[in-house]
Amino acid sequence: MSRILIIEDEEAIAELEKDYLEISGFDVEVASDGTEGLARALNETFDLYILDLMLPGIDGFEICKQIRNKQNTPIIMVSAKKDDIDKIRGLGLGSDDYITKPFSPSELVARVRAHLARYERLINSAITGNDILTIRGLKIDKTDRRVFVNNVEKPFTTKEFDLLCFLAQHPNRVFSKEELFKKIWEMDPEGDIATVTVHIKKIREKIEYGTSKPQYIETIWGVGYRFKV
Ligand code: CA
Repeated sequence: MSRILIIEDEEAIAELEKDYLEISGFDVEVASDGTEGLARALNETFDLYILDLMLPGIDGFEICKQIRNKQNTPIIMVSAKKDDIDKIRGLGLGSDDYITKPFSPSELVARVRAHLARYERLINSAITGNDILTIRGLKIDKTDRRVFVNNVEKPFTTKEFDLLCFLAQHPNRVFSKEELFKKIWEMDPEGDIATVTVHIKKIREKIEYGTSKPQYIETIWGVGYRFKV
């Protein structure tokens, strides 16, 4: 069941959205201010966000920006003012859709369904083999074996490329260092798994904005690594 987070301070609107989405088969959570909403978005797992623009705490613009730094999860922004919608577009914050209040609940449900379906296709295409994978600012060209970060090409060694490509093609799955070593080096990992750590470090230096808080390759302590989409 898809899990949706509504970030909305007007209780009546949040309840209306929640009711309609639950009737339509979604699992829905509500955060009633910006601070709580952002914290939950960054620390829990959701399939879609419905984000009000004017919120106490942190406003919807900032929340959208911060979620987009970490995730490709669909965001539908909601505002009472048409002007705000124009502003959202102009800022290019990376939200997927905009809806003005008042809106019909059935329209909201239809848009939620469309965005969830689109996002699922995106993840599937990352898994099953488009030749070019694009994840936020990162572009991996599998045919030419080239990697671009914000349209700037980064040099990759063969194994670095294989490792990045493998992780990106299996998004949101955790792999142990042993598993990665077997996959990429095609040998039994007899104490050589430090090689994986070294390669991950080098890849991060090329693709991450800050290596202390990686947005693509996440370390799962005691387990291994996961590529986040
Ligand atoms: Ca509001």
